[in-house]
Amino acid sequence: LVESGYCAVCGKSLLVTEQFCASCGTSNTLYREPVSNTQDNHATPAGAAGYNPYKNPTTAVLIAAIGGLFGVSGMGHMYVGKVTKGILILVAGLILAVVGGLTAAFLVGIPLLIGYLALWIWQIFDARKLANQYNEYLKTNGKQPW
Ligand SMILES: [Zn+2]
Repeated sequence: LVESGYCAVCGKSLLVTEQFCASCGTSNTLYREPVSNTQDNHATPAGAAGYNPYKNPTTAVLIAAIGGLFGVSGMGHMYVGKVTKGILILVAGLILAVVGGLTAAFLVGIPLLIGYLALWIWQIFDARKLANQYNEYLKTNGKQPW
């Protein structure tokens, strides 16, 4: 392994990591790219560090609960990757909340609003259950369940 040599023009000693002779500027025929260390080669891409592939059940519960409070149900399902189910819950929730709200003065509105409350509670627990299922499947099979 040649780590150093001499400049062909002026005879000054050169390291292989020096691209040009510092004395006369001749390009070094022994020049090599500095060997990058293992850490550089295996460095994780920016942003990937700290990435957690699991779905946090607490986050699913919070998103489902807070979204539902504002009439946006199914957010917990979308968070755990059940997008279609989340959209169906969202639409069902909107219908119950809007129609129930508009007709609250009449008898029909009350069951609709109670229905929305039941949907709100159910989708919170279902989102948490799905987050746990997701994590269990990912841990066992090494891939996403859905
Ligand atoms: Zn030289």
